[in-house]
Amino acid sequence: MRILLTGSAGFVGSHLTERLLADGHIVIGVDNYISGQPSNTALFEVHPNFKFIQADVSDGIPYKAATFDGQKLDYVLHFASPASPPHYQQFPIETLMVGAQGTQHALELAHAHGAPFLLASTSEVYGDPQVHPQTEDYWGHVNPNGLRSCYDEAKRYAEAITFAYHRHHGVDTRVIRIFNTYGPRMRPDDGRVVTNLIVQALAGQPLTVYGDGQQTRSFQYVTDLVDGIVALMSIKESEDVHAPVNLGNPDEYTILQFAQVIRELIDPTLEIIHEPLPADDPRQRRPDISRARELLGWAPGVDLHTGLMRTVESFRASRSAAPVSAERTPVAAE
Ligand code: NAD
Ligand code: UDP
Repeated sequence: MRILLTGSAGFVGSHLTERLLADGHIVIGVDNYISGQPSNTALFEVHPNFKFIQADVSDGIPYKAATFDGQKLDYVLHFASPASPPHYQQFPIETLMVGAQGTQHALELAHAHGAPFLLASTSEVYGDPQVHPQTEDYWGHVNPNGLRSCYDEAKRYAEAITFAYHRHHGVDTRVIRIFNTYGPRMRPDDGRVVTNLIVQALAGQPLTVYGDGQQTRSFQYVTDLVDGIVALMSIKESEDVHAPVNLGNPDEYTILQFAQVIRELIDPTLEIIHEPLPADDPRQRRPDISRARELLGWAPGVDLHTGLMRTVESFRASRSAAPVSAERTPVAAE
């Protein structure tokens, strides 16, 4: 297939590109590097089936530029959006724009090519959930104008316009709701808990836990997510495929427990310190993945310890290889 992927230079985008190329597909990546890394594009630059367009998808995706050898697209995957809380709070307008205009441009492209469309949505559409674990039929509990609203409401709008294109234009649309995902190629300075704590631990610094650390998250290793995405892309269109699907690992940890796991893995002597809890920080999060199990026969296979070992090794390797800061856009420190 000829697949257009927005957000190809991001963490998830780079793993998805790697998998799609390995499966024999052509990938046309689009990214403006607002939160991504040129090094992720460089990984595939010489691959004959990879083409890269540096562009802001909120401004539009040129119909012609987005083809490979002038051929029609077979799939459009919309993954462009800052995803880490410090990132999207540093770029709130851009985050709203890419969820709104960016999603519409990607949908228009899919519609014009007669191609299926897949949206990377998020567990953040559930906000600070009052239903636990979160099932796809839960409508969420979102502050519409809080610090996280630029991301949460952008993704809720992105889901709404995706469904409008399906209902109104008949586009074959699919929506995944991704829960906290981690792995190699995350930006070390993205401010998320996995990267912060690994970077701190490798530098021998105290681990920062926000609040009392009793808030929970469920961490999914990136290759499990990619398996789920490929499974959803691969099934034939039917009424069942259009509804959102949670993709996440249901193993739930308090953030304090998570910090203790990192400490045991890297340096048991490290101190854990507490810093203020950011506003609207969801108190609990765990996916109900029954729908993904039934529809896709999918379940995550990489446990936290194994996934973290791989991630820590990759961070160790890149720390010793080269300084990583030169090519990056700044991220507000938490
Ligand atoms: P990321 O920041 O590493 O990747 C996002 C990519 O999109 C970056 O390369 C960025 O430069 C690009 N981008 C953003 N706005 C753009 C624009 N206007 N035009 C072109 N490119 C643009 O984040 P990620 O963790 O890889 O997340 C990828 C997608 O998955 C996002 O849509 C995110 O909302 C979703 N998601 C991720 C997680 C997670 O835990 N990683 C959880 C839920 C949802
Ligand atoms: N967090 C933390 N220490 C950090 C970074 C984050 O305790 O250095 C907490 C954060 O407050 C949240 C959880 O870890 O409760 C997950 O944060 P992250 O930014 O990774 O993603 P979120 O799930 O909040 O979008």
